[in-house]
Amino acid sequence: MLIVQKYGGTSVADPDRIRAVAEHIVRSRHNGDDVVVVVSAMGKTTDDLVRLANDVSQSPALRELDMLLTAGERISIALLCMAIIDHGEPAVSFTGSQAGIVTDTTHGKAKIIEVKGDRIREAIAGGSVAVVAGFQGVSTTRDITTLGRGGSDTTAVALAAALHADACEIYTDVAGVYTADPRIEPAARRLARVSYEEMLEAAASGGKVLALRSVEFARRYRVPVHVRSSFTWEPGTWVREEEPMMEQAIISTVTHDVSEAKVTIEQVPDRPGIAAKLFRSLAEEAVNVDMIVQNVSAGGHTDISFTVPKDDLPRTLKVMETIVAETEASGFRHDTGIGRVSLIGAGMKSNPGVAAQMFEVLANEGVNIEMISTSSIRISCVVQADDVERAVRALHKAFALEEAS
Ligand code: ADP
Ligand code: ASP
Ligand code: MG
Repeated sequence: MLIVQKYGGTSVADPDRIRAVAEHIVRSRHNGDDVVVVVSAMGKTTDDLVRLANDVSQSPALRELDMLLTAGERISIALLCMAIIDHGEPAVSFTGSQAGIVTDTTHGKAKIIEVKGDRIREAIAGGSVAVVAGFQGVSTTRDITTLGRGGSDTTAVALAAALHADACEIYTDVAGVYTADPRIEPAARRLARVSYEEMLEAAASGGKVLALRSVEFARRYRVPVHVRSSFTWEPGTWVREEEPMMEQAIISTVTHDVSEAKVTIEQVPDRPGIAAKLFRSLAEEAVNVDMIVQNVSAGGHTDISFTVPKDDLPRTLKVMETIVAETEASGFRHDTGIGRVSLIGAGMKSNPGVAAQMFEVLANEGVNIEMISTSSIRISCVVQADDVERAVRALHKAFALEEAS
């Protein structure tokens, strides 16, 4: 079997952890599997590098920031290879560029366009473990790029797809995908399996375990993903295709996210083309707009609210200044103190009343709902950030997620 194994930052945080990971890789080889490894930067290295850049420059040039951040993963690939080689197993490290991970030119959140992987295939064919730096690639204009925070997951699943691997194992500091973030809800239960669709909604609504793009790749190329612990090595959660005959849990997980801010443009004229203009301008600045709510118009004017990642807020506010001037809106405001809680579950499709129950639970907790959005298998509410953890616990309890379903 060919397995892609990805190790996150905490899994390789120090020399002991790197040696433990190397031992596991060697065990997998001794079991007869071919192994391609994707590794993240050690511990909080990426955060430290971001801070360093901000200490040096008020707005670090994006090309140079990518060059800096990719250094973190370069350190871990080299160290991990040394530790594997110490066990007598051949191992070769590759940067994203050497692995042939070709991206577009959007620094900081580049999209993978192609995975060449020739050198990886050669390394495996020669009996070596290939260790690839996560979260990075080389652009079509030959600059070094990064895939966005948490992007090593994406590297791993994209490689698994390109190499037709039998599975992609994502090793992390929790034993799988839980019914809620176990750090917030200690009674959270590990799910044995979750569908691509549910995982996509969970990742898109802030569930941190897997990066959104990695789930998109997994679904598109039908890569079975196994999320598991690099501390206990026990079997974790399989993310894969839904089995049509399976009884679906109404709710599989509660997610939360406090990384977004809410922006409201006030009193814009209610006429065709205004929303198009606003969101086109934001798209041109590569702002990822998420939830959008337009209020009922009064007197020919309306408010439009939307959420954006806090990282995109400075760019968003710049766009807003121009838009307000161009559209004769009365102004705009923003709130960085918001958060989002979401319920996700494939069984929602056939069970009405989930939204009503969610709103009742939040009301009983005295949590005010500021925005609502839904898909066929998700309901999200924007609330004040201070209420998020309480809301997660209340919802987890109300929907009886701690009990095995
Ligand atoms: P890594 O560094 O290995 O990529 P991450 O920090 O990106 O790890 O993701 C793992 C973390 O995701 C866990 O430590 C956990 O706190 C958080 N998390 C959030 N929601 C969930 C969930 N539903 N199930 C499991 N972990 C979750
Ligand atoms: N090191 C990068 C980050 O911290 C990528 C990753 O860990 O997936 O975001
Ligand atoms: Mg991660």
